[in-house]
Amino acid sequence: MFQQLSPNMLKTYDECPRKFDFRYIQNIQMPVNDDIFEFGKNIHALASYYLRKENIDKMEASLTSKELEVWSYLKSCEYFSYDTVNTEYNLAVKIDNHFFGGRLDALVKNADRYYILDYKTGSIPKNPKYDYQTMIYTLCVKEFFQTSNITFVYMDLKNKKNIEIEFTQNDENEYKLKLINIANKIDSYESAPKQSSCNCEYSILCY
Ligand code: SF4
Repeated sequence: MFQQLSPNMLKTYDECPRKFDFRYIQNIQMPVNDDIFEFGKNIHALASYYLRKENIDKMEASLTSKELEVWSYLKSCEYFSYDTVNTEYNLAVKIDNHFFGGRLDALVKNADRYYILDYKTGSIPKNPKYDYQTMIYTLCVKEFFQTSNITFVYMDLKNKKNIEIEFTQNDENEYKLKLINIANKIDSYESAPKQSSCNCEYSILCY
């Protein structure tokens, strides 16, 4: 059993249990596209320093024109005028006998409502309400702050739009059941056959 399951682990298992095996059981990491990774990392770092009210003048001056365009948009969003609770915030929640958790890009607050901010420099989830990130982070905030006034916000920096998912009381049980269900599947995983006509970064190892 894993100590803690992250949204990425659950997404990978859904995509392909065999890929999950390579990545999280055998701990084999494959190279990623460095340019996209670096771009996202820079924007995340800048947003974190800004929300923590640190001086970012030098960082801003060193941005490429593409980074500056994205950063200007992000900074102008209303959520960045709310109170910062924390950034790059590690939270976890225990559901049944499983721990789920991860690192929130930012948690901000306006009046009595918490907003979980997630910056996306790539694509946003196809089904955001039931994305593992939405479910896990929302339940983490609910448990830690003992509140249901939570909105998860996917900030789509490529298309310059935001998707809000407002948590309701009815979501709690549904989210928990979905998470327990996949965690139990992972716990009972032994092996999986190669999928037909598929391709991923592990295909060179997969036969
Ligand atoms: S190549 Fe196919 S079966 Fe193998 S790990 Fe990747 S997605 Fe899974």
